[in-house]
Amino acid sequence: MKTTAIILAAGQGRRMGSDTAKQFLLLSGRPVLYYTLKNFEESIVDEIVLVTGEGQAAYCQKEIVEAYGFSKVKKIVTGGKERYHSVAKGLDAIDDDIRDAGHYVLIHDGARPFATPEMIERGIGEARKYDACVLGMPVKDTIKISDEEGFAADTPKRSLVWQIQTPQIFACSLIKKAYGELLLREEELLRKGIAITDDAIVVELFSGKRVRLVEGSYQNIKLTTPEDLKTAEGFLDSFAG
Ligand code: C5P
Repeated sequence: MKTTAIILAAGQGRRMGSDTAKQFLLLSGRPVLYYTLKNFEESIVDEIVLVTGEGQAAYCQKEIVEAYGFSKVKKIVTGGKERYHSVAKGLDAIDDDIRDAGHYVLIHDGARPFATPEMIERGIGEARKYDACVLGMPVKDTIKISDEEGFAADTPKRSLVWQIQTPQIFACSLIKKAYGELLLREEELLRKGIAITDDAIVVELFSGKRVRLVEGSYQNIKLTTPEDLKTAEGFLDSFAG
């Protein structure tokens, strides 16, 4: 078995309301991306492909990868406009010789610094059984689907609703094929208004494979808005204490 993690750090993080992309904001004096990479460096993952924004590769190489000695980062590539474009660039960077059966790809948001080595290993174990799995957690709140005018239109059965996280883990050939199809049919999806906000949906749309849901943790948050930074600082304090 071989495992490659694609860590996505090419987003601008507009919802954070800061000039600095969220993966580079400091948490207890270190960039968010440091914590994310550290978890993967210390996990059973074999190698990491880091996807960064235009013009950020040299900074990431020097100030993060070399500064903290992340030896599993084998490539740094430039991402694209949407998250799924960045994933496609990361998948392209995976060497041909590791696209065989028995090779798994983990796709992870750089802005999620609390996916622990244990969670990563749990996910890989499930991916070996099911070929496709995503980490997530059952929701705590009731979820409502709104209509276009902002009125409650539907209430899905709460026990079946999950909030989805990353890493999302797939057999390498499966995810490469699904993403290949996505890029061919991008226009059609845009026309239909289908948003590609995670990787599982690509597999759901373009393969017959069922995606297994695996428990991550409620701490595995994606830093998106300013209050998430406060929560993250709180988690770090609790780990230290
Ligand atoms: O925008 P969103 O919160 O879904 O981003 C999730 C992750 O994907 C972030 O770590 C972000 O840096 C990354 N991303 C990317 N390329 C984009 C957009 C987002 O690598 N074009």
